[in-house]
Amino acid sequence: MIETKQWRVDPEAADLEQDPQILAAAEGIKNGEVVAFPTETVYGLGANAKSREACLKIFEAKGRPSDNPLIVHVATFEDVREICTDINPIARKLAEAFWPGPMTLVLPSRGEVSDAVTAGLSTVAVRMPDHPVARALIRAAGVPIAAPSANSSGRPSPTRAEHVVNDLNGKIYGIVDGGETGVGVESTVVDCTTTPVTILRPGGISREQLTEVIGLVASDPAMVRSDQTPKAPGMKYRHYAPEAMMYLVPGGKERITELVKNEKENGRRVGVLTTEEHLNSYPRADIVLSCGKRAEPESVAHSLFAVLREFDKRKVDVIYSETFSETGIGKAIMNRLSKAASGRVIE
Ligand code: AMP
Ligand code: MG
Repeated sequence: MIETKQWRVDPEAADLEQDPQILAAAEGIKNGEVVAFPTETVYGLGANAKSREACLKIFEAKGRPSDNPLIVHVATFEDVREICTDINPIARKLAEAFWPGPMTLVLPSRGEVSDAVTAGLSTVAVRMPDHPVARALIRAAGVPIAAPSANSSGRPSPTRAEHVVNDLNGKIYGIVDGGETGVGVESTVVDCTTTPVTILRPGGISREQLTEVIGLVASDPAMVRSDQTPKAPGMKYRHYAPEAMMYLVPGGKERITELVKNEKENGRRVGVLTTEEHLNSYPRADIVLSCGKRAEPESVAHSLFAVLREFDKRKVDVIYSETFSETGIGKAIMNRLSKAASGRVIE
């Protein structure tokens, strides 16, 4: 156990790069420590991407399998050129359209970042985050920062500093608390070494948005077929799972009501994951939580992980979840929900 430091930072403050709290956190990164910090997607657990020793601490703190590579966070295009050998015209177009923002590009690695980051692959995943605290921290540290989500492996990703504390307190050097994150789901991972480019993980930037800028976009077959090995190593692992057994129920309100009734007859404590529109539709369930407004899928993405964690706090035996349309950010929402449910669907 180490004593995990906490720094509170107002993301809207001026001159964040000179903020003593940010400087203290950056000093930690420079000294080879791991520090959690907010990004616009979820909280990240950062270390100097050039230091193998520092990056190994990330894997240890999270309990992350070592074959699952990390995303390198940068502040400028200059940083990208330092890390990657070839930024082809399509990658450039995507970067110009969506950076800073919730999109990660997989590009050929120059070998500048540690092989702990790339898990020995010849490619590296890079992202320029759009969060003032993340940007200030990267600049102040003066190095690219490798950062996966700041949760214990397998748990829902953290969208508030308190989630990081719950999972990693005593295991990491420090946490920069910059309030709640915005997007709420992780970045879209796009492999730019294929033609056309391939979406390896759906996320904050939708397929529709990518297509609008570059036209053709492929999807990793593993996103739809379970017999395929995903090209993003992380996609093969169990993820985001609450403690209770969770099921997705495409049948919606009527079907869930019936399932709740059965569970109650068997004396079980039942949770329902719903939206504002249906908050009062499940009077027999023990815990009914809304993850936002169905009509505003961004609000659902924003709250999803916090709601999954809330079910753990309220101790339920089983969770039934409504499902969402897979257009736009809905694709990322359904991907995370499906993983949280370990693929269990009640058709
Ligand atoms: P996380 O940072 O935990 O949100 O996960 C990052 C995701 O990007 C994981 O699914 C990784 O397997 C994936 N990833 C990172 N680097 C690469 C790479 N070089 N090639 C393919 N996928 C990658
Ligand atoms: Mg993660």
